[in-house]
Amino acid sequence: MTNTGPGPVAGIKLRIAICGGGIGGLCLAVSLSRYAHLDINVYESAGQFREIGAGVMIWARTWHILEKMGLASEFSKIAHAPPTGAQGVGFDYRRSDQPCEGFRFKLVEMPYGVCFSIHNRHAVLTSDSLCQCIRFHRAEFLDVFVNHLPPGIAHFGKRLTSYSRNSNGLISLIFNDSSSAICDVLIGADGIKSTIRAQMYREAADTAHDQSLMRYIEPVWTGTMAYRGLVRVQDIPRNKDGSPHRTIGVPMMYCGKGRHVVSYSISQGDIVNIVTFVSQPEKHGQHYDGEWVTNCDKQELLDCYANWEPEVGSLLKCIDKPTRWAIHHVNPLPFYHKDGVVLMGDAAHAMSPHQGAGAGQAIEDGFVLGHLLANITSKMQLFRSLDAYEAIRLPTANSVVNGSYESGMMYDLISKYGDDYATLGPAIQRQWKWINEISLETELEFASRLARSPSPNAKL
Ligand SMILES: Cc1cc2nc3c(=O)[nH]c(=O)nc-3n(C[C@H](O)[C@H](O)[C@H](O)COP(=O)(O)OP(=O)(O)OC[C@H]3O[C@@H](n4cnc5c(N)ncnc54)[C@H](O)[C@@H]3O)c2cc1C
Repeated sequence: MTNTGPGPVAGIKLRIAICGGGIGGLCLAVSLSRYAHLDINVYESAGQFREIGAGVMIWARTWHILEKMGLASEFSKIAHAPPTGAQGVGFDYRRSDQPCEGFRFKLVEMPYGVCFSIHNRHAVLTSDSLCQCIRFHRAEFLDVFVNHLPPGIAHFGKRLTSYSRNSNGLISLIFNDSSSAICDVLIGADGIKSTIRAQMYREAADTAHDQSLMRYIEPVWTGTMAYRGLVRVQDIPRNKDGSPHRTIGVPMMYCGKGRHVVSYSISQGDIVNIVTFVSQPEKHGQHYDGEWVTNCDKQELLDCYANWEPEVGSLLKCIDKPTRWAIHHVNPLPFYHKDGVVLMGDAAHAMSPHQGAGAGQAIEDGFVLGHLLANITSKMQLFRSLDAYEAIRLPTANSVVNGSYESGMMYDLISKYGDDYATLGPAIQRQWKWINEISLETELEFASRLARSPSPNAKL
C-alpha cells in the first residue's frame, strides 16, 4: 500500500540512495518504498540480490518488526515453524568435549512472538528468561524482502567507489563502472567492509586531526574461525534407540574448551543448519591473512571435534562440503552519520554471530530509519532525524557487538566464568536480557520525539 506521507522536502521528492542490498538495505528499501513522496534507489555491487546459503535466526524483537511491516505471514511460511508465541527452547547448552555422553548445563527457554505485557507504557516480557529463536534459510529470508521491492528501484553491478558533497548540498555517488548518481541522503548498507564507513571515518580523522578514528575503518579479526554447513534431516543418523537426533527438535549449543557447535533446524524442519567455532582469543585483533570465506576439507572440521561426544560427531559427519569463515567484527563506532551520509547494518556494527543478532540489528536499523526518513518535512529535520536514529540505535547495537563477543567466550568456556556452571549459566542468561529490555514502540516514540524536538538533548 502506498502512503502519501507528510509531503516533499522543498517541493521535490527526497532522494534516498541505499548502497547495498543485503538484509539491512532491503528491509529499509521495502519500508521506504511504501511512501510516494520519497524517491528510493538501491545500488548493489553484485549482479543480483543474494545470500550465501545456511541459516539465520531472529528473536521476538525482530519478529515484532516483521509483523509491523505486514510481512509476518510470509515469513511464517518459510520459518522452521510458524511462530505462535508459545513457550519454547532458546538454546539447550551442553558440555560436549569428551568422548562419553555429555550433559546439559543450562536450558534457556521463553515465550516468543508477542508475549509482552504493558507496564508503565513499556512493553515487557512476562518472564525474565529467554526468547526462543525463529529460524530461516537465508536465501528464503532475503527473498521475502526482494519480492516486496517495487520494480525499477534496484540497480545491479553498481559498486560504489566514493561519494562527494556538492556545493548545492546534494551527494554525488561514483560507481566502479564510471556511472554516477545523486541523492539527498546516502545510506551505507554495504556490509562489514563498507566503503562508505571507510570514507566517512577517513575524512573525519583528517578533519579532526584525530588518527584514532582510523581504527573504525578496518574490521577486526576476533581470533575465531567458523565452519558452516547445511544437512538434510533425512541424512542425519538416528540414535541407537531409534529416536531422532536431538538437534532436529531443539536448537543446540554444544560447548567445550575453546570451541563450540551450534545447530538448529530450518526450512520447516527439513534442514539442519550447523555452525561450529574454534577460538584463539589471544589472536583477537590480529590481522587475518587470507580469504575470509573458503571451502575446506571435511576432515579439517572433523579433526577439530575429534574427541567430542558421539552426537556431535554423527552430526558433523553429515556435512558434505563445509565452508570456513574468519569471524570479524567492527570496533564499536562513535557515530553513525555525517553530512547526510548514514551507516546501517554490518556497515555500522558488524558483530560476531554468537547472539544470532547481526541481521536482527540490521532490521531494527531499517525499521527505525525508515520510520524517521518517511516523516521528514524539512531539510533541518533530516539532520535531526539522523541524530535521532544514531541516539536510538548506536548504544543498543554497540552493546550487542560487545555482548556477542563475550557470549562466544562463554560458550567456549574461556570467559571469566570458565566452566563454573553455577555462575556461567546465569551469566549466559543475562547476556540475552537486552532482547527484552526496551520495546521497539518505546524506541520509535522516543526517536520520533527527538526528530521533532528543536533540542538534540531530549532524554528517554
Ligand atoms: C557465521 C555467521 C552466522 C550468522 N548468523 C546470524 C544469525 O543467526 N542471526 C542474525 O541476525 N545474524 C547472523 N549473522 C550476521 C548477519 O548475517 C549479518 O549481520 C547481516 O547479514 C548483515 O546484513 P547487511 O545487509 O548489513 O550486510 P550484508 O548482508 O553484508 O549486505 C551488504 C550488501 O552490500 C553490497 N555491497 C558491498 N559493498 C558495496 C559497494 N561498495 N557498493 C554497492 N554495494 C555493495 C554487498 O554485495 C551486499 O549485498 C551471522 C553472520 C555470520 C558470519
